[in-house]
Amino acid sequence: MLLPEPIQKLINAFERLPGIGPKSASRLAFYLLRAPEDIPQDLSEALNDLKNKVAFCEECFNITEAGRARCEICENTRRDGSVICVVEEALDVLALERIGAYQGKYHVLHGVLSPIEGVGPDDIKVKPLLERVARGGVKEVILATNPSMEGDATALYLQGQLKPYGVHVTRLARGLPVGGDLEYADQNTLLRALSGRQEMS
Ligand SMILES: [Zn+2]
Repeated sequence: MLLPEPIQKLINAFERLPGIGPKSASRLAFYLLRAPEDIPQDLSEALNDLKNKVAFCEECFNITEAGRARCEICENTRRDGSVICVVEEALDVLALERIGAYQGKYHVLHGVLSPIEGVGPDDIKVKPLLERVARGGVKEVILATNPSMEGDATALYLQGQLKPYGVHVTRLARGLPVGGDLEYADQNTLLRALSGRQEMS
């Protein structure tokens, strides 16, 4: 049976999302078709706002309001600009901010290196990080990518790239669940990983 075009279009759109297969995509589309009016409406509004009202900070690529060049953390003059904590996703910034112990700045890579998925250094925010460090004033770069194979490989790669700049390059202490995401680590574990960070050599 050929589905009406608007339904097929929605199914196709859902299928492009991570973790959603053809079956879930169809289920979601048909659910929305018969759901009360306000559910698809809220969803459509939220999706619109996502791209229109949210932007990325020009300095660290964290989330910020649209129309603002830099995020709250970059704008905050009380934060220590000589330390940059490098994370995979903006969600990791939230996780680290929740523990309230970090006073430096951030840099969001928006991914990790993954040869299998064809993600190279140019596909994530490596160059802007090196440019930030090259501008001077940075003493330490904390590599806080996840303790996964890709996260470790990305940290190693960045360490190599940062070497010529003569800054301290540290890595979060072990103790985070291996393969786990920073964003799911509990606050104590995260705090220990941060305060026990070690120089990469
Ligand atoms: Zn920022």
